[in-house]
Amino acid sequence: MEKYYRVYAQVDMDSIVHNLKEINKIKDSKSELMAIIKADGYGHGAIPVSKVLLNNGADRLGVALAEEGIALRKNNIKAPILILGFTPENQILELLKYDLTQTVFKIEMAEMLSKMAKRHSLTAKIHIKVDTGMGRIGFEPDDESIKAIKHIKSLPNLEIEGIFTHFSRADEIDPQYTDQQIYQFENFINTLEDDGIKIPIKHASNSAGLLKFKNAHYELTRVGIAVYGLYPSKDLNNTIHLKPSLSLKSHIIFLKKVKGGTPISYGGTYIASQDSVIATIPVGYGDGYPRALSSKGRVLINGEHAPIVGRICMDQLMVDVTHIKGVQDGDEVVLIGTQKNAQITVDEIAHLTDTINYEILCGLGKRIPRVYTSKNHMIQSVDYF
Ligand SMILES: *Cc1c(COP(=O)(O)O)cnc(C)c1O
Repeated sequence: MEKYYRVYAQVDMDSIVHNLKEINKIKDSKSELMAIIKADGYGHGAIPVSKVLLNNGADRLGVALAEEGIALRKNNIKAPILILGFTPENQILELLKYDLTQTVFKIEMAEMLSKMAKRHSLTAKIHIKVDTGMGRIGFEPDDESIKAIKHIKSLPNLEIEGIFTHFSRADEIDPQYTDQQIYQFENFINTLEDDGIKIPIKHASNSAGLLKFKNAHYELTRVGIAVYGLYPSKDLNNTIHLKPSLSLKSHIIFLKKVKGGTPISYGGTYIASQDSVIATIPVGYGDGYPRALSSKGRVLINGEHAPIVGRICMDQLMVDVTHIKGVQDGDEVVLIGTQKNAQITVDEIAHLTDTINYEILCGLGKRIPRVYTSKNHMIQSVDYF
């Protein structure tokens, strides 16, 4: 495939199916699985991935934005979809028409949803968000919020289907903070129930919660990063057996010999220390490949590591291939993934660039076509333009 693409992200659907099986093994069997596919399915391509997820055990989908949910509906995806974040007023009617479920974290949102739904004879489905320690959106778990939720419950054309919270530290070794969040969440729900408000679907766990807090799977788990085969943190590495589903591949477009002393790329920050062979790869930070990997990162060619030399440009980068026997123009280059017995992980790139695997995946840009494979055969491809 590398001959036909400048660069492409290969998404192995078999790995996604494998990860779902692994997730289902550890998940409380009474708990539904909401696969989180915000930010275009963590860069994998939300629509093709959603279809595979829903055919292989995911019960629901979670997105961040109304437009992400609408794009799924327009592609004939019928499963329940929860919007985890904020929806502005001008998108609420569309949200209702497309039967998307909205997270509610303040009274005004519920009132707006109810009003719009009533006007158009629709029903707004909502999940209430409770902040038990993330310090982000959500009702505080206090008496005032009990009153607010009672009020929301009384609004017409509105159905409170779920109530949830979000863990901020479930990926750490010390469980204490998360235990506290769980305690607060359950306590708040008990108070609501004592007041006669019973909400059917309670949920709290992200991937880290799924892996580590089996007492907090409730009626639903919201699993993102693990679906894609990565772990939420080092501390949770290999807790279950996941397979990374995304590879990033390109090929050499130019090879040249340079004399020792030759500067490579902008600013001449790298100078060949000896006579060298330098390959140019047509991938750059304009594709979301981090510039911070300049003279730090590496790629795979013929199953060997080749170090990135000099600054990464917007559309190209250079690697030193002096040591790679038989290297040729057109050779496959793996920037993320495996080649022969060698591997470059998203975690390696995240570590070198001082960030988390999530950000590297989400950063992969729309210039990169996504190629979907099963048993190493292409089954579908998506070009963004
Ligand atoms: C993104 C997100 C998740 C998924 O988190 P992972 O760590 O990727 O599993 C779950 N819940 C909410 C509210 C989120 O925003």
